[in-house]
Amino acid sequence: MSYPPLTITFLGTGTSSGVPMIGCDCEVCISTDKHDKRLRSSILVKSPRTTLVVDTGPDFRYQMLREKVKHLDAVVFTHPHKDHLAGLDDIRAFNFFSNGPIDVYADSLTEEAVRRDFYYAFTDTKYPGIPQLNLNTIDQKTFVVGDLSILPIPVWHLKMPVMGFRFGSFTYITDANRIDPESMEKIRGSKVLVLNALRKTKHISHFSLSEAIDLAKELEIPQTYLTHLSHQMGKHADVEKELPEGVHLAYDGLTLHFD
Ligand SMILES: [Zn+2]
Ligand SMILES: [Zn+2]
Repeated sequence: MSYPPLTITFLGTGTSSGVPMIGCDCEVCISTDKHDKRLRSSILVKSPRTTLVVDTGPDFRYQMLREKVKHLDAVVFTHPHKDHLAGLDDIRAFNFFSNGPIDVYADSLTEEAVRRDFYYAFTDTKYPGIPQLNLNTIDQKTFVVGDLSILPIPVWHLKMPVMGFRFGSFTYITDANRIDPESMEKIRGSKVLVLNALRKTKHISHFSLSEAIDLAKELEIPQTYLTHLSHQMGKHADVEKELPEGVHLAYDGLTLHFD
């Protein structure tokens, strides 16, 4: 089955604190290399007919301005943590230009958080100018946004279920530290995989660099890009030199094309 051509843009590739981290003077946080400036993790997915974002973190507004995004068809959420959700209020600009609500796709856990954190968007009498959200609950079944059919891939973030997503031969997985065999099979065959890797040392709820590399190898993925990076990972240029063939660090603004 053919899949529409895709353009993926990394809107942010940083962990929850971003890089640099507030108040930190480490060599990564003071680096002048633009590859070491990482906003909170999110991607923009574009096909000929559809534009969507995966997650709306605290940097969502600036990311939309930087990439000059004028239209969004949907927001797709991975999980309810604040670094993936906090920017949703700024969807108002897209409501204004499209003169209607935006479709939001989230599992029931994330939907609950959206209703709680943005309660004012769900009251009976609505204050003018609040975000207009059309919530669509997803589970493990493929769902369709415009010309894109999207396969949710459940993964584990310590004890929290997180959704990864497969778009044809491209798979995006953030905030995981464990993947069940059934989900591994859903990833297998991807040409490009985005996977979270927090830092070099082990972490309780994120893959480390070596764990992410091992997983990409086990799945025989030709090209893997690592995201959700902490300042503790080291400088982009230094880490990039240590990576095996076919594995790269993602960076903010990186764009991938799929035909
Ligand atoms: Zn996160
Ligand atoms: Zn998280």
